[in-house]
Amino acid sequence: MIEKKGILFVLSGPSGVGKGTVRKALFEKSTDLKYSTSMTTRNSREGEVDGVDYFFKSKEEFESMIEQNQLLEYAEYVGNYYGTPREYVEKTLQEGKDVFLEIEVQGALQVKKNFPQGVFIFLFPPSLEELKNRIINRGTETEDLVRNRLLAAKAEIEMMDAYDYVVVNDKIELAVDKIQAIVQSEHCKRERV
Ligand code: 5GP
Repeated sequence: MIEKKGILFVLSGPSGVGKGTVRKALFEKSTDLKYSTSMTTRNSREGEVDGVDYFFKSKEEFESMIEQNQLLEYAEYVGNYYGTPREYVEKTLQEGKDVFLEIEVQGALQVKKNFPQGVFIFLFPPSLEELKNRIINRGTETEDLVRNRLLAAKAEIEMMDAYDYVVVNDKIELAVDKIQAIVQSEHCKRERV
């Protein structure tokens, strides 16, 4: 069967669970998915490249994109805006390519409203204690930020039931294998349509 449109995959879960690491490992193995680079107003971290890791924007630029309806979803997260560019996602899906988003939970729930046919994957930490250690060990955050990120993480975990799949991030390679299996399985499901 010919598939006309691509599938939208959304990887989400609490900050510190390792979404970024899993996503990078996935993209080293999988060339068929198209990653949608997000917009953010947060400062870039050391080593991050504008246009690759994020499109870094001022608050004014971001708010103007919101007004012009250029974002598929956006969220304010620990004092900064994060959002997904609408045009890239819609155009890429239209071309029949799968799009992959890696976003926090509020944003994922917004996408679910607009794209109920999307596939929503929740990356789950091995434990809350482990999540706390990961956030602290990242070493890029102040004590206040660590506390806020942990509070956000607890609220995010409560939203897990809204997702199609839960993947525990115990080992990165295993999590990547599971996400690839989900991608394959979703394609198989749609062969009939
Ligand atoms: P960080 O500042 O650590 O790069 O990202 C903070 C949180 O924002 C992470 O949970 C990350 O997945 C999420 N995030 C990244 N891009 C987007 C986006 O475009 N939209 C939303 N809603 N969240 C995003």
